[in-house]
Amino acid sequence: MKWIVLVIVLLSVLLLIYRLTFRIRDKVETTKIIQMSLHGKRVSKVNKQMCSFCRKKDKKLSFYSDEQGRVVGVCSVCRPQAERRALMRL
Ligand SMILES: [Zn+2]
Repeated sequence: MKWIVLVIVLLSVLLLIYRLTFRIRDKVETTKIIQMSLHGKRVSKVNKQMCSFCRKKDKKLSFYSDEQGRVVGVCSVCRPQAERRALMRL
């Protein structure tokens, strides 16, 4: 009968370890999400973006996809330049 008790104890210990690791993993996930949302807030605060052509900061940028497939933000002054290059408007 002793070994049955031993098995039960072993199982409960395993269950405890499993639960603990699960909880820790859960905590890590939530902190990750919190960090990500904080980072996102910080990014959204910077509403002035730089023009990819003249490097001037402008509130309103038009976004185009260039020949390499990269996204470029273009200010109103440089917009005709981008249109001349036949970039795809996003
Ligand atoms: Zn510009």
